[in-house]
Amino acid sequence: MSEHSKFLLADSQIPPVWVNVLPDLPEPLAPPLHPATRAPLTPQDLAPIFPMELIQQEFSTQREIDIPGEVMDIYRLWRATPLYRARQLEKALDTPAHIYYKYEGTSPAGSHKPNTAIAQAYYNKRAGIRRLATETGAGQWGSALSLACQLFGMECTVYMVRVSYDQKPYRRMMMNVWGAEVFASPSQHTNSGRAVLAAHPDSPGSLGIAISEAVEDAATHDDTNYSLGSVLNHVLLHQTVIGQEAKLQMAMAGEEPDVVIGCFGGGSNFGGLALPYVLDRLAARKDGRKAPRIVAVEPTACPSLTRGSFAYDFGDLAKLTPLVKMYTLGHDFVPPGIHAGGLRYHGASPLISHLVHLGEIDGKAYTQLPVFQAAVQFARTEGILPAPESSHAIRAAVDEALAAKEEGRHKTILFCLSGHGHFDLAAYENYLSGKLQDYAYPGRNIDEALADPTL
Ligand SMILES: *Cc1c(COP(=O)(O)O)cnc(C)c1O
Repeated sequence: MSEHSKFLLADSQIPPVWVNVLPDLPEPLAPPLHPATRAPLTPQDLAPIFPMELIQQEFSTQREIDIPGEVMDIYRLWRATPLYRARQLEKALDTPAHIYYKYEGTSPAGSHKPNTAIAQAYYNKRAGIRRLATETGAGQWGSALSLACQLFGMECTVYMVRVSYDQKPYRRMMMNVWGAEVFASPSQHTNSGRAVLAAHPDSPGSLGIAISEAVEDAATHDDTNYSLGSVLNHVLLHQTVIGQEAKLQMAMAGEEPDVVIGCFGGGSNFGGLALPYVLDRLAARKDGRKAPRIVAVEPTACPSLTRGSFAYDFGDLAKLTPLVKMYTLGHDFVPPGIHAGGLRYHGASPLISHLVHLGEIDGKAYTQLPVFQAAVQFARTEGILPAPESSHAIRAAVDEALAAKEEGRHKTILFCLSGHGHFDLAAYENYLSGKLQDYAYPGRNIDEALADPTL
């Protein structure tokens, strides 16, 4: 076992490929369905809003996909990201557990999201697209795509969930600096936005509404495509650089994780770290090799994996997206305005949902207060001020370490620290001044929500 606390890779060790779990699934994914005809979706159905190379990746049966040279040139600006052993946190917890974290906050946008933003901008540019439209929750995805579009000489339009637009003006300005146009969603710029505003003038917005706006924008402009920062197979595919690097770094540390943890919004940082370990689990079924437990952590305010139904549902409020089989709280669910804006999505990645359903991944949910308590403890021991989203993973890692202490046994914990919280200081102020409220799941009858006759 290594004495070090920080594990770094050379540029030449950045993985040359993204790894795809689709061909190794024990049962295939349920096919996405066309929103109008309910027939299985064809690649051509997606062509109005996505470039063909990304559509092919969405359904690819190749185990590995080469990372294009131009994408790699940009990855090298901040990749490989560091892996740390959280020795100060371990000491504070007085635990026999070893806690490792893969830190994705070193990217220019401050999270894991540029890993896919760069790839998506690249493939769209190659397809002759001039502008990308997207939604953003906390602003992390919007910033990542603004940066990526700027680097590839494209325009970017971002529909930013109203509550975050108001809570995080500096995220918006960051997007403006990188050249993007940003609208608060629901906005007056689309039919979907205007419909929501007519019924609910004070709507705090949701990712479901903002997705409708961005998809509508892309579908009604020939030179514009849509870009999604999470949920889809190709997005999780691009994020697998995280887990591949982490495996090399854990080997440098001389340890193997017993448990792998990530926070869960739509599934991209979680999938990025976890999917290479999921492949180990699937292989372990055949050859009995050691493979870790894998845990996805979400807020109780928006508990798709732990309280949702595994069913076909739309990805957005206006039902413009395909129907996908996933854990969902219903496409019209508007979660409370918690500070982990990036985790306020009613649905979940179909791929991760499938793996949860198969029992390969466990879901876990926390309320805001214990999450912020862990975030502050982390900042005060490890120094890094974490994003509220990422702090869900910290909470779960801390609880795993405390359980190890209770049981008096060793455990190796690996989690993804998906981003820093430098734009979330208003949330920290609320927490430190005792004003932060704890939201539980507001409760709803999901079967009723999904009994929509048009669904
Ligand atoms: C967007 C975001 C998330 C949630 O999205 P996933 O696709 O579930 O990863 C988590 N952490 C950070 C820092 C984010 O920016």
